[in-house]
Amino acid sequence: MYDPLVSSGPGTGAAYPDSYWSDTAGPPPVDDGPVCADQEVEVAIIGAGYTGLSAAYHLAAEQGIEAIVLEANATGWGCSGRNGGFALKAGGRLSYQKMIKRYGEPTARGMFNEIYDGLARVRGLIQDHNIDCDQQDDGHLWVAHRPRMMQVIESEARFLKQNFDYEVDILSADELRQQHFNSDEAHGAMRFRHGFGVHPLKLAYGYHRMARAAGVKIHTSSPVQQWLREGDRHLLLTPGGVVKAKKVIVATNGYTAPGLHPKLKSRTFPVLSNVIVTRPLNAKELQATNFVSSDVITDTRTLRFYYRKLPGNRILIGGRSAITGADACNPVHNENLLRALRSKFSALGNLSFDYQWGGWVCVTFDDIPHISQAEDDGSVLYALGYGGSGVSFAVQAGMRLAEKVAGITAGHDLPVLSTQLPKFPFAPFRRIGQRALYHYYFARDEKR
Ligand SMILES: Cc1cc2nc3c(=O)[nH]c(=O)nc-3n(C[C@H](O)[C@H](O)[C@H](O)COP(=O)(O)OP(=O)(O)OC[C@H]3O[C@@H](n4cnc5c(N)ncnc54)[C@H](O)[C@@H]3O)c2cc1C
Repeated sequence: MYDPLVSSGPGTGAAYPDSYWSDTAGPPPVDDGPVCADQEVEVAIIGAGYTGLSAAYHLAAEQGIEAIVLEANATGWGCSGRNGGFALKAGGRLSYQKMIKRYGEPTARGMFNEIYDGLARVRGLIQDHNIDCDQQDDGHLWVAHRPRMMQVIESEARFLKQNFDYEVDILSADELRQQHFNSDEAHGAMRFRHGFGVHPLKLAYGYHRMARAAGVKIHTSSPVQQWLREGDRHLLLTPGGVVKAKKVIVATNGYTAPGLHPKLKSRTFPVLSNVIVTRPLNAKELQATNFVSSDVITDTRTLRFYYRKLPGNRILIGGRSAITGADACNPVHNENLLRALRSKFSALGNLSFDYQWGGWVCVTFDDIPHISQAEDDGSVLYALGYGGSGVSFAVQAGMRLAEKVAGITAGHDLPVLSTQLPKFPFAPFRRIGQRALYHYYFARDEKR
């Protein structure tokens, strides 16, 4: 598997992973093919995931600015076509409690609203553009995987009410069993009323069509292999020609190679997440688990598992995976997910999986995304580092990038919108630290 820390780029025209999503998304939308001649543009966007497509759409539709998208492989080939399809009220990894400690209450409230807007934006775009993405009903369950975690859940519910006047529902283990599913490892839950499941690749295809309808050109199989400067122009070298742009947006997230731009080196940390999708549950299994819920579900582990019942009664479950791309295909990572599923639902002891795949989540040193401009060069913009929560926030980030390109700065004073990506100290040792943290968190999560 492509490993962004050791490879020079994500390839050219690589096929989609053999995922449940690529198998069920239907044919990819029409695009503009690879770059086949030199061209000049106002704005070039690198990466055709949610961020790049949203930036391109909002530039064209709301700011009247011409943009082209350069994608190494195909639309949604990165995380946007591989994720669990949880559109959550989330963005980055920093908890609101930590946010208040670091930035103060008004900033945390601003961030809460920004994240909320992100989810509303996704919902609005799906509706306004009739995006067929198997959107499910709202509901996100945060399930206590140990009895003691109910205290954490109850305290978080009080915190959300007190600080943001945000209401959630608390469900007992019995209510969870009756209304959602019967799991051996569910001791109650917090239920967010906002957040829903989607087919992530169909969603990416929908954004692609929406951007092209607004006049955007999307060049697939067009990796940026070198990035030079000529006066005030950026020269992006692709196999089929040079794209000259006044401004460049980097929307490569966890797939960013270290050599792409010097100002981004050692500022992102790609972390693998792995997913399996089971065969469809039969009537007996559905009855034994009472799995009636279409809510998206996460558990209270720090190394959390995320799972949901898909339309068609398959279960998707995802979680942490290998440290390196070289180890990504080790079957042990799928076995871990199957074991986790079986310990949640002992009635599913015979369940097998039909699909597995993985992808690179983008983590930042300060645990928040950064939608910003490169140090000393305002013509290089980026939005990176959603930390596994980008389905809704990447779309908000794309809209904010479009505003920045257009010179709109009102409402851009939050740290996510006004500060640059910090460098990781001791960057070459990131994976050693990750391995140690995985051991520590695993022991803490599984403690009874
Ligand atoms: C397994 C998994 C499960 C996840 N589940 C969820 C979830 O349920 N909910 C949630 O909110 N988030 C989830 N995420 C995270 C979410 O998918 C991402 O945050 C989001 O999709 C990021 O979108 P993006 O457009 O910024 O990047 P991506 O979708 O990763 O797109 C980056 C693109 O850049 C291209 N690229 C890279 N380098 C170059 C280059 N040099 N030239 C041209 N193109 C280039 C890549 O080919 C890629 O297509 C998950 C991630 C993974 C991996």
